[in-house]
Amino acid sequence: MRIIDQGLDEQGNRISIEEVAEQYFWKINPKIKKPDRWGEDIFYKIGCLINRLEQAISSSTTYVHADFYKYLLDKPNKYRLLKSIITENAIQLEQIFIPQIESYLTSLGVDIRSDKKYREEIISILGYESIRSCHTQWLVDRLGIKTCPYCGIQYVLGVSRPGEKKVLCELDHFFPKDTYPYLCVSFYNLIPSCAFCNRLKSSSVTSLGTYPHPYHHNFDQLFKFKADPQDVIEMIIKGKKAISIQPSFNVSSTPSIDKHFERFRLNEVYAHHSDIAEELYWKKYMYVDSRIEELVKLLGNSLGLSKSEIERFIVGNYVEDKDMLRRPLAKLMRDIASEVKLIAK
Ligand SMILES: [Zn+2]
Repeated sequence: MRIIDQGLDEQGNRISIEEVAEQYFWKINPKIKKPDRWGEDIFYKIGCLINRLEQAISSSTTYVHADFYKYLLDKPNKYRLLKSIITENAIQLEQIFIPQIESYLTSLGVDIRSDKKYREEIISILGYESIRSCHTQWLVDRLGIKTCPYCGIQYVLGVSRPGEKKVLCELDHFFPKDTYPYLCVSFYNLIPSCAFCNRLKSSSVTSLGTYPHPYHHNFDQLFKFKADPQDVIEMIIKGKKAISIQPSFNVSSTPSIDKHFERFRLNEVYAHHSDIAEELYWKKYMYVDSRIEELVKLLGNSLGLSKSEIERFIVGNYVEDKDMLRRPLAKLMRDIASEVKLIAK
């Protein structure tokens, strides 16, 4: 299962990530149902992405810029290229659309890397700032996550009051917007993340072969958290308190996870949570088989809790793969609970 495998519709029902991407396109391009003078019955709202590009084409001071916006909008093909770069997944973006767009820019004689002003213009016309301030909460809600997918430690949340909406979440560009400004509002390129991870990653170059992408890779296949066996022995024999956490990397997987740990300093950050590993070992002593059977009877029969919910109660966090981003530290706690055989996974 991918780190972010499914999304939620407005009613909270599970839908695919692909459906969320489709909804996102229409969210940033709302239609107005009103016949125009050519008999077409659909307008796009003023200020939406399509409308911004149409305005940029007519107001650009250079033919080259206008040509690029025309190319991105792709109106003769019913906005096919624009829709593709907004909704196609990161593999398609990397393998098809980045080379295609870069090749078109070269044919125009534009070197986007050396022209900061033009990069900023593209980001402004695509409306990144407005999408970030108006739609970040919508994205987080539709993904059904509460935790940063890069670190699994910090919350990503929205806090609303009437007339005011604060989002404790930033949007990271998996493919940096300084390098690929035309992907600055692409669904699969916007990763809701904590400020710490967003800052650490910044504009550093990223590719799918080198770093895991939350919509495409499965962290469980890439690594497991484990307790330091020497510390466990010392805890049992000497009553030592701290248990170090050692991530065990799957060295044969691609991308390798060590670069991800290095980039987000996860070894250092998770080292602060050795007390959690220690508590899970305490729980192993407390929850002997007979006590777990008692809990199954009590919570299962009386409250109708499922096996997974009873395990969640024992561990103090979610234990199912699909729930690893519903609460901070879920993967750490599930992996150690599994290692110590506190749960059956
Ligand atoms: Zn983070």
